[in-house]
Amino acid sequence: MEYKILSLKAREVLDSRGIPTVEVEIKTKSGISRAMVPSGASTGIHEALELRDGGKRFLGKGVQGAVDNINKYISKEIIGLDCSNQRDIDEKVINLDGTENKSKLGANAILGVSMAVCRASALEEGIPLYERIGQLSENKKFILPAPMMVLIEGGKHADNSTDLQEFMIMPMPKVLKNFREALRCGTEIFYSLGKILKSKGYSINVGFEGAYGPNLKSNNEPCELFINAIEDAGYNLGKEVFITLDPAASEVYESGKYNLKKEGKILDSGGMVEFYENMVQKFPISSIEDGLAEDDWSGWQLLNKRLGDKIQIVGDDLTVTNIKRLQKAIELKAINAILIKLNQIGTVSETMDVVNLAKKNKIAQIISHRSGETEDTFIADMVVGLGCGQSKFGGPDRGERTAKYNQLLRIEEGLGDKAIYSTS
Ligand code: PGA
Ligand code: ZN
Repeated sequence: MEYKILSLKAREVLDSRGIPTVEVEIKTKSGISRAMVPSGASTGIHEALELRDGGKRFLGKGVQGAVDNINKYISKEIIGLDCSNQRDIDEKVINLDGTENKSKLGANAILGVSMAVCRASALEEGIPLYERIGQLSENKKFILPAPMMVLIEGGKHADNSTDLQEFMIMPMPKVLKNFREALRCGTEIFYSLGKILKSKGYSINVGFEGAYGPNLKSNNEPCELFINAIEDAGYNLGKEVFITLDPAASEVYESGKYNLKKEGKILDSGGMVEFYENMVQKFPISSIEDGLAEDDWSGWQLLNKRLGDKIQIVGDDLTVTNIKRLQKAIELKAINAILIKLNQIGTVSETMDVVNLAKKNKIAQIISHRSGETEDTFIADMVVGLGCGQSKFGGPDRGERTAKYNQLLRIEEGLGDKAIYSTS
Protein backbone atom coordinates (compact mmCIF):
# COMPACT_ATOMS: atom_id res chain seq x y z
CA MET A 1 0.00 0.00 0.00
CA GLU A 2 1.16 3.45 -0.72
CA TYR A 3 0.57 6.16 1.84
CA LYS A 4 0.87 9.42 -0.01
CA ILE A 5 1.83 12.69 1.65
CA LEU A 6 -0.93 15.02 0.46
CA SER A 7 0.35 18.20 2.07
CA LEU A 8 3.12 19.34 4.37
CA LYS A 9 3.44 22.65 6.14
CA ALA A 10 5.29 24.16 9.07
CA ARG A 11 4.63 26.93 11.55
CA GLU A 12 6.45 28.69 14.37
CA VAL A 13 5.14 27.72 17.83
CA LEU A 14 6.52 28.11 21.38
CA ASP A 15 8.50 25.59 23.43
CA SER A 16 8.27 25.09 27.21
CA ARG A 17 10.61 28.05 27.84
CA GLY A 18 8.60 30.42 25.65
CA ILE A 19 11.21 30.17 22.90
CA PRO A 20 10.05 29.61 19.30
CA THR A 21 10.32 26.17 17.77
CA VAL A 22 9.18 24.39 14.62
CA GLU A 23 5.92 22.48 14.27
CA VAL A 24 5.31 20.40 11.15
CA GLU A 25 1.96 19.16 9.93
CA ILE A 26 1.50 16.42 7.35
CA LYS A 27 -1.77 15.45 5.74
CA THR A 28 -2.37 11.92 4.51
CA LYS A 29 -5.55 10.06 3.62
CA SER A 30 -6.31 9.17 7.24
CA GLY A 31 -5.80 12.65 8.70
CA ILE A 32 -3.27 15.12 10.06
CA SER A 33 0.00 14.20 11.82
CA ARG A 34 1.98 16.80 13.74
CA ALA A 35 5.43 16.96 15.28
CA MET A 36 7.21 19.59 17.38
CA VAL A 37 10.96 19.98 17.70
CA PRO A 38 12.77 20.18 21.08
CA SER A 39 15.73 22.45 21.83
CA GLY A 40 18.66 22.43 24.30
CA ALA A 41 20.18 25.09 26.56
CA SER A 42 23.50 23.39 27.29
CA THR A 43 23.93 22.47 23.66
CA GLY A 44 27.02 20.51 22.59
CA ILE A 45 29.24 22.20 20.01
CA HIS A 46 29.18 19.12 17.79
CA GLU A 47 25.39 19.00 17.50
CA ALA A 48 23.61 19.55 14.19
CA LEU A 49 22.74 23.20 13.73
CA GLU A 50 19.50 24.63 15.06
CA LEU A 51 18.58 27.46 12.70
CA ARG A 52 17.53 30.69 14.45
CA ASP A 53 16.64 33.95 12.73
CA GLY A 54 18.66 36.49 14.71
CA GLY A 55 17.44 40.09 14.55
CA LYS A 56 14.77 41.65 16.74
CA ARG A 57 11.88 39.18 16.74
CA PHE A 58 11.92 36.97 19.88
CA LEU A 59 15.34 38.44 20.73
CA GLY A 60 16.82 36.67 17.75
CA LYS A 61 15.38 33.27 18.65
CA GLY A 62 12.69 33.11 15.98
CA VAL A 63 12.57 30.09 13.66
CA GLN A 64 10.71 31.66 10.77
CA GLY A 65 13.67 30.91 8.50
CA ALA A 66 13.53 27.19 9.34
CA VAL A 67 9.75 27.27 8.84
CA ASP A 68 10.19 28.96 5.44
CA ASN A 69 12.76 26.33 4.45
CA ILE A 70 10.11 23.67 5.02
CA ASN A 71 7.27 25.53 3.35
CA LYS A 72 9.30 26.73 0.35
CA TYR A 73 11.89 24.02 -0.32
CA ILE A 74 11.35 20.76 1.59
CA SER A 75 7.60 20.49 0.98
CA LYS A 76 8.11 20.52 -2.80
CA GLU A 77 10.36 17.47 -2.58
CA ILE A 78 8.21 15.56 -0.13
CA ILE A 79 4.60 16.08 -1.15
CA GLY A 80 3.38 13.08 -3.14
CA LEU A 81 5.92 10.67 -1.62
CA ASP A 82 4.97 7.57 0.37
CA CYS A 83 5.37 8.38 4.08
CA SER A 84 6.27 4.77 4.87
CA ASN A 85 9.65 5.28 3.16
CA GLN A 86 11.18 6.97 6.20
CA ARG A 87 14.79 6.42 5.27
CA ASP A 88 14.39 7.54 1.66
CA ILE A 89 12.63 10.70 2.77
CA ASP A 90 15.23 11.44 5.46
CA GLU A 91 18.03 10.92 2.93
CA LYS A 92 16.32 13.11 0.38
CA VAL A 93 16.09 16.00 2.83
CA ILE A 94 19.66 15.45 4.07
CA ASN A 95 20.85 15.67 0.45
CA LEU A 96 18.75 18.74 -0.20
CA ASP A 97 20.52 20.37 2.75
CA GLY A 98 23.90 19.09 1.60
CA THR A 99 25.94 20.17 4.66
CA GLU A 100 27.60 18.01 7.33
CA ASN A 101 25.72 19.68 10.23
CA LYS A 102 22.42 20.49 8.51
CA SER A 103 23.18 24.19 8.64
CA LYS A 104 21.58 25.15 5.34
CA LEU A 105 17.98 24.13 6.00
CA GLY A 106 18.44 23.78 9.78
CA ALA A 107 18.33 20.56 11.81
CA ASN A 108 15.16 21.88 13.48
CA ALA A 109 13.46 22.07 10.07
CA ILE A 110 14.72 18.65 8.98
CA LEU A 111 13.82 16.91 12.25
CA GLY A 112 10.29 18.32 12.32
CA VAL A 113 9.66 16.83 8.89
CA SER A 114 11.26 13.50 9.81
CA MET A 115 9.19 13.07 12.99
CA ALA A 116 5.95 14.08 11.27
CA VAL A 117 6.61 11.59 8.45
CA CYS A 118 7.12 8.84 11.03
CA ARG A 119 3.89 9.71 12.81
CA ALA A 120 1.96 9.91 9.51
CA SER A 121 3.11 6.40 8.58
CA ALA A 122 1.90 5.04 11.94
CA LEU A 123 -1.45 6.72 11.35
CA GLU A 124 -1.76 5.25 7.86
CA GLU A 125 -0.71 1.78 9.04
CA GLY A 126 -3.24 2.07 11.85
CA ILE A 127 -0.68 1.12 14.51
CA PRO A 128 0.67 2.91 17.59
CA LEU A 129 3.74 5.08 17.00
CA TYR A 130 5.96 2.86 19.19
CA GLU A 131 5.08 -0.12 17.03
CA ARG A 132 5.90 1.80 13.86
CA ILE A 133 9.25 2.87 15.33
CA GLY A 134 9.86 -0.78 16.26
CA GLN A 135 9.17 -1.80 12.65
CA LEU A 136 11.55 0.82 11.28
CA SER A 137 14.40 -0.24 13.55
CA GLU A 138 13.61 -3.95 13.31
CA ASN A 139 13.00 -4.19 17.04
CA LYS A 140 10.26 -6.45 18.32
CA LYS A 141 10.88 -6.13 22.05
CA PHE A 142 8.77 -3.26 23.38
CA ILE A 143 10.37 -2.26 26.65
CA LEU A 144 9.03 0.27 29.16
CA PRO A 145 11.98 2.31 30.44
CA ALA A 146 13.48 2.72 33.86
CA PRO A 147 13.00 6.48 34.31
CA MET A 148 15.94 8.67 35.27
CA MET A 149 14.08 11.55 36.91
CA VAL A 150 15.75 14.87 37.60
CA LEU A 151 14.87 16.28 41.03
CA ILE A 152 17.48 19.06 41.41
CA GLU A 153 18.84 21.13 38.55
CA GLY A 154 21.53 23.76 38.41
CA GLY A 155 24.13 24.82 35.86
CA LYS A 156 22.48 26.49 32.85
CA HIS A 157 19.05 25.17 33.82
CA ALA A 158 18.42 27.13 37.03
CA ASP A 159 19.88 30.33 38.45
CA ASN A 160 22.23 30.26 41.48
CA SER A 161 22.08 26.52 41.92
CA THR A 162 24.82 23.88 41.73
CA ASP A 163 27.73 23.76 39.24
CA LEU A 164 26.67 20.28 38.22
CA GLN A 165 23.62 20.54 35.98
CA GLU A 166 21.39 17.65 37.03
CA PHE A 167 20.89 15.42 40.06
CA MET A 168 18.55 12.57 39.28
CA ILE A 169 17.13 9.47 40.87
CA MET A 170 16.52 6.21 39.12
CA PRO A 171 14.03 3.73 40.54
CA MET A 172 15.54 0.33 39.83
CA PRO A 173 13.57 -2.07 37.66
CA LYS A 174 14.86 -5.15 39.41
CA VAL A 175 12.87 -4.18 42.49
CA LEU A 176 9.92 -2.17 41.18
CA LYS A 177 7.74 -4.31 39.01
CA ASN A 178 6.57 -1.97 36.28
CA PHE A 179 6.89 1.54 34.90
CA ARG A 180 3.80 2.80 36.72
CA GLU A 181 5.34 1.82 40.07
CA ALA A 182 8.69 3.34 39.15
CA LEU A 183 7.00 6.63 38.23
CA ARG A 184 5.08 6.63 41.51
CA CYS A 185 8.29 5.99 43.43
CA GLY A 186 10.11 8.90 41.74
CA THR A 187 7.15 11.21 42.19
CA GLU A 188 6.76 10.44 45.89
CA ILE A 189 10.45 11.14 46.40
CA PHE A 190 9.97 14.46 44.56
CA TYR A 191 7.26 15.38 47.10
CA SER A 192 9.37 14.48 50.11
CA LEU A 193 12.38 16.34 48.70
CA GLY A 194 10.16 19.42 48.31
CA LYS A 195 9.13 19.20 51.97
CA ILE A 196 12.76 18.92 53.10
CA LEU A 197 13.89 21.86 50.96
CA LYS A 198 11.06 23.99 52.30
CA SER A 199 11.85 23.09 55.91
CA LYS A 200 15.45 24.19 55.34
CA GLY A 201 14.33 27.52 53.93
CA TYR A 202 15.27 26.72 50.32
CA SER A 203 13.20 27.71 47.31
CA ILE A 204 11.07 25.02 45.73
CA ASN A 205 10.70 26.81 42.42
CA VAL A 206 11.44 24.53 39.52
CA GLY A 207 13.94 24.96 36.66
CA PHE A 208 13.63 24.20 32.93
CA GLU A 209 13.13 20.48 33.39
CA GLY A 210 10.68 20.49 36.29
CA ALA A 211 13.27 19.86 39.02
CA TYR A 212 13.90 22.07 42.05
CA GLY A 213 16.62 24.67 41.59
CA PRO A 214 17.56 25.71 45.15
CA ASN A 215 20.61 27.82 45.97
CA LEU A 216 22.59 25.00 47.60
CA LYS A 217 25.98 25.24 49.26
CA SER A 218 27.86 22.46 47.52
CA ASN A 219 27.65 19.84 44.79
CA ASN A 220 27.36 17.08 47.38
CA GLU A 221 24.37 18.64 49.11
CA PRO A 222 21.74 17.37 46.61
CA CYS A 223 22.89 13.80 47.22
CA GLU A 224 22.71 14.34 50.99
CA LEU A 225 19.18 15.72 50.62
CA PHE A 226 18.24 12.77 48.38
CA ILE A 227 19.24 10.33 51.11
CA ASN A 228 16.70 11.89 53.47
CA ALA A 229 14.01 12.35 50.82
CA ILE A 230 14.25 8.72 49.69
CA GLU A 231 14.09 7.48 53.28
CA ASP A 232 11.15 9.78 54.14
CA ALA A 233 9.26 8.49 51.11
CA GLY A 234 9.80 4.95 52.40
CA TYR A 235 12.17 3.67 49.71
CA ASN A 236 15.52 1.99 50.04
CA LEU A 237 18.46 3.95 48.59
CA GLY A 238 21.01 1.75 46.90
CA LYS A 239 18.48 -1.01 46.44
CA GLU A 240 15.21 0.34 45.06
CA VAL A 241 16.55 3.74 44.05
CA PHE A 242 19.93 5.00 42.82
CA ILE A 243 21.29 8.49 42.25
CA THR A 244 22.40 9.54 38.76
CA LEU A 245 24.24 12.70 37.70
CA ASP A 246 24.54 14.88 34.62
CA PRO A 247 27.27 17.41 35.45
CA ALA A 248 27.20 18.76 31.83
CA ALA A 249 30.91 19.39 32.38
CA SER A 250 31.47 21.23 29.07
CA GLU A 251 29.62 24.14 30.69
CA VAL A 252 32.23 24.53 33.47
CA TYR A 253 35.23 23.86 31.22
CA GLU A 254 37.40 26.96 30.87
CA SER A 255 40.86 26.98 29.22
CA GLY A 256 41.48 23.30 29.73
CA LYS A 257 40.29 23.17 33.37
CA TYR A 258 37.02 22.55 35.19
CA ASN A 259 35.87 25.49 37.30
CA LEU A 260 33.62 24.30 40.15
CA LYS A 261 32.58 27.62 41.67
CA LYS A 262 30.50 26.13 44.49
CA GLU A 263 33.53 24.14 45.63
CA GLY A 264 35.99 26.97 45.04
CA LYS A 265 38.03 24.48 43.01
CA ILE A 266 39.60 24.50 39.57
CA LEU A 267 40.39 20.92 38.57
CA ASP A 268 42.10 19.20 35.65
CA SER A 269 40.63 16.02 34.12
CA GLY A 270 42.39 13.76 36.64
CA GLY A 271 41.07 15.95 39.47
CA MET A 272 37.55 15.65 38.11
CA VAL A 273 37.82 11.87 37.91
CA GLU A 274 38.92 11.83 41.56
CA PHE A 275 36.07 14.18 42.46
CA TYR A 276 33.62 11.65 40.94
CA GLU A 277 35.35 8.68 42.54
CA ASN A 278 34.82 10.34 45.90
CA MET A 279 31.17 11.00 45.15
CA VAL A 280 30.61 7.41 44.02
CA GLN A 281 32.26 6.18 47.22
CA LYS A 282 30.03 8.36 49.38
CA PHE A 283 26.70 7.93 47.59
CA PRO A 284 24.93 5.15 45.67
CA ILE A 285 25.45 6.70 42.25
CA SER A 286 24.74 4.42 39.29
CA SER A 287 25.36 6.71 36.32
CA ILE A 288 27.34 9.83 35.40
CA GLU A 289 26.60 11.65 32.14
CA ASP A 290 28.94 14.22 30.60
CA GLY A 291 31.31 13.98 33.55
CA LEU A 292 33.93 15.62 31.36
CA ALA A 293 33.98 18.11 28.48
CA GLU A 294 32.91 17.30 24.93
CA ASP A 295 36.45 17.00 23.50
CA ASP A 296 38.37 15.83 26.57
CA TRP A 297 38.74 12.32 25.11
CA SER A 298 41.66 11.29 27.31
CA GLY A 299 39.75 12.42 30.40
CA TRP A 300 36.80 10.29 29.31
CA GLN A 301 39.05 7.27 28.80
CA LEU A 302 40.38 7.70 32.33
CA LEU A 303 36.89 8.11 33.79
CA ASN A 304 35.59 5.01 32.03
CA LYS A 305 38.65 3.04 33.09
CA ARG A 306 38.28 4.02 36.74
CA LEU A 307 34.50 3.82 37.12
CA GLY A 308 33.13 2.11 34.01
CA ASP A 309 32.95 -1.34 35.59
CA LYS A 310 30.84 -0.02 38.49
CA ILE A 311 28.55 2.60 36.97
CA GLN A 312 27.27 3.95 33.65
CA ILE A 313 29.57 6.46 31.97
CA VAL A 314 27.21 8.27 29.60
CA GLY A 315 28.15 10.37 26.58
CA ASP A 316 25.84 13.27 25.71
CA ASP A 317 27.68 16.39 24.46
CA LEU A 318 30.58 14.00 23.80
CA THR A 319 28.68 11.80 21.36
CA VAL A 320 25.78 14.08 20.24
CA THR A 321 23.79 11.13 18.77
CA ASN A 322 26.31 11.13 15.93
CA ILE A 323 27.43 7.80 14.51
CA LYS A 324 31.01 8.95 13.88
CA ARG A 325 31.43 10.26 17.40
CA LEU A 326 29.86 7.11 18.86
CA GLN A 327 32.25 5.02 16.74
CA LYS A 328 35.19 7.01 18.11
CA ALA A 329 33.93 6.68 21.69
CA ILE A 330 33.65 2.90 21.24
CA GLU A 331 37.15 2.64 19.77
CA LEU A 332 38.66 4.73 22.56
CA LYS A 333 36.62 2.94 25.25
CA ALA A 334 35.46 6.35 26.46
CA ILE A 335 31.89 5.41 27.43
CA ASN A 336 29.66 2.45 28.28
CA ALA A 337 26.34 4.29 27.70
CA ILE A 338 24.97 6.95 25.39
CA LEU A 339 22.28 9.60 25.65
CA ILE A 340 20.07 9.77 22.57
CA LYS A 341 18.51 13.08 21.48
CA LEU A 342 16.77 13.34 18.11
CA ASN A 343 17.64 16.97 17.56
CA GLN A 344 21.36 16.48 18.14
CA ILE A 345 21.49 14.71 14.77
CA GLY A 346 18.27 15.78 13.06
CA THR A 347 16.47 12.75 11.59
CA VAL A 348 14.64 9.70 12.91
CA SER A 349 16.65 7.33 10.67
CA GLU A 350 20.05 8.58 11.80
CA THR A 351 18.92 8.42 15.44
CA MET A 352 17.91 4.78 14.99
CA ASP A 353 21.26 4.00 13.36
CA VAL A 354 23.06 5.34 16.43
CA VAL A 355 20.86 3.27 18.76
CA ASN A 356 21.51 0.14 16.71
CA LEU A 357 25.28 0.68 16.67
CA ALA A 358 25.19 1.20 20.45
CA LYS A 359 23.17 -2.00 20.93
CA LYS A 360 25.62 -3.98 18.80
CA ASN A 361 28.49 -2.77 20.98
CA LYS A 362 26.70 -3.26 24.31
CA ILE A 363 26.59 0.47 24.95
CA ALA A 364 23.46 1.21 27.02
CA GLN A 365 21.06 3.73 25.46
CA ILE A 366 19.03 6.38 27.25
CA ILE A 367 16.38 8.25 25.27
CA SER A 368 16.34 11.88 26.36
CA HIS A 369 14.28 15.06 26.25
CA ARG A 370 15.84 18.54 25.94
CA SER A 371 15.57 21.39 28.42
CA GLY A 372 13.36 23.16 25.86
CA GLU A 373 10.52 20.70 25.28
CA THR A 374 7.05 20.69 23.79
CA GLU A 375 3.77 18.84 24.29
CA ASP A 376 4.93 16.32 21.69
CA THR A 377 5.29 12.82 23.19
CA PHE A 378 7.31 11.28 20.33
CA ILE A 379 10.22 10.25 22.57
CA ALA A 380 7.93 8.26 24.87
CA ASP A 381 6.94 6.06 21.92
CA MET A 382 10.53 6.04 20.73
CA VAL A 383 12.03 4.66 23.94
CA VAL A 384 9.51 1.79 23.92
CA GLY A 385 9.70 1.17 20.16
CA LEU A 386 13.49 0.99 20.15
CA GLY A 387 13.53 -1.09 23.34
CA CYS A 388 16.25 1.06 24.91
CA GLY A 389 15.26 0.43 28.53
CA GLN A 390 16.10 3.85 30.01
CA SER A 391 14.47 7.28 29.70
CA LYS A 392 15.46 10.76 30.81
CA PHE A 393 12.34 12.89 30.59
CA GLY A 394 12.73 15.36 33.48
CA GLY A 395 10.91 15.93 36.74
CA PRO A 396 7.40 14.63 37.46
CA ASP A 397 5.82 18.05 36.94
CA ARG A 398 5.52 20.67 34.13
CA GLY A 399 3.11 19.63 31.38
CA GLU A 400 5.72 19.09 28.68
CA ARG A 401 7.48 16.49 30.91
CA THR A 402 4.37 14.78 32.31
CA ALA A 403 3.03 14.51 28.73
CA LYS A 404 5.82 11.95 28.11
CA TYR A 405 5.34 10.10 31.41
CA ASN A 406 1.58 9.93 30.85
CA GLN A 407 2.09 8.58 27.34
CA LEU A 408 4.30 5.84 28.81
CA LEU A 409 1.51 4.95 31.24
CA ARG A 410 -0.90 4.65 28.29
CA ILE A 411 1.55 2.52 26.32
CA GLU A 412 2.18 0.22 29.29
CA GLU A 413 -1.56 -0.21 29.78
CA GLY A 414 -2.11 -0.80 26.05
CA LEU A 415 0.59 -3.47 25.89
CA GLY A 416 -0.93 -5.29 28.88
CA ASP A 417 0.75 -8.67 29.39
CA LYS A 418 3.11 -7.98 26.52
CA ALA A 419 4.71 -5.02 28.30
CA ILE A 420 8.30 -5.74 29.29
CA TYR A 421 9.71 -3.57 32.02
CA SER A 422 13.32 -2.54 31.70
CA THR A 423 16.01 -4.75 33.16
CA SER A 424 18.75 -2.14 32.70
P1 PGA B 1 19.98 20.53 27.35
O1 PGA B 1 20.28 19.69 28.66
O2 PGA B 1 18.74 20.00 26.72
O3 PGA B 1 19.86 21.93 27.87
O4 PGA B 1 21.18 20.36 26.43
C1 PGA B 1 20.00 18.34 28.79
C2 PGA B 1 21.25 17.54 29.01
O5 PGA B 1 22.36 18.07 29.06
O6 PGA B 1 21.14 16.32 29.10
ZN1 ZN C 1 23.44 15.99 29.37
